[in-house]
Amino acid sequence: MLTQLDIRQIVADRVGREWCLFVDRDGVINRQIVDDYVRGWADFEWLPGARDALRKLREWAPHLVVVTNQQGVGKGLMSIGDVTGIHDHIQAELAQDGVAVNGFQVCPHLESRHCSCRKPQPGLVLDWLTDHPSVDPSLSIVVGDSPSDMELAQNVATAVDRCVSIGIGGRASVVGFANAAFNSLWDFAVAVGHAREELGS
Ligand SMILES: [Mg+2]
Ligand SMILES: [Zn+2]
Repeated sequence: MLTQLDIRQIVADRVGREWCLFVDRDGVINRQIVDDYVRGWADFEWLPGARDALRKLREWAPHLVVVTNQQGVGKGLMSIGDVTGIHDHIQAELAQDGVAVNGFQVCPHLESRHCSCRKPQPGLVLDWLTDHPSVDPSLSIVVGDSPSDMELAQNVATAVDRCVSIGIGGRASVVGFANAAFNSLWDFAVAVGHAREELGS
């Protein structure tokens, strides 16, 4: 069990620092499709407030990277090009709000392949951090709605000393293992906004 952290502390620790917010996609940004995959843009549905949340969070975080398992590629249900197309659409819609995501890190592999990038393995996060040496790895934050995202945060912490986990969506198996938990990405963004106001940051 991890320590519950005050969101004000999480914000205060990062004032003036260069760090990255790693955000899960399905179930956090867009509606998760049960027993299937978001195979194309037609399947993509923003969760309420998620788009505004990304705008607010991007104002706070020097870097914001989406980290997502897309095993449907490995299963042959869609191509990596389909996934990239979805991410291009996300960027295009966010650009209307003046927001840019810094990267989309995707694991397309089958679980049975036991790759080093499928969450909860930390490869997607660690590879991005390796490519961005000016970013302080130990200030990383992982946001997700699955137990594997909380496990990802722990695996990143093992590699780089520390990593804060934010649980989204209220699953008991997530809330109990997150440093802080919120019902939605929007609720997290609002809490960050209040903390930043209090701190004058
Ligand atoms: Mg998810
Ligand atoms: Zn992989």
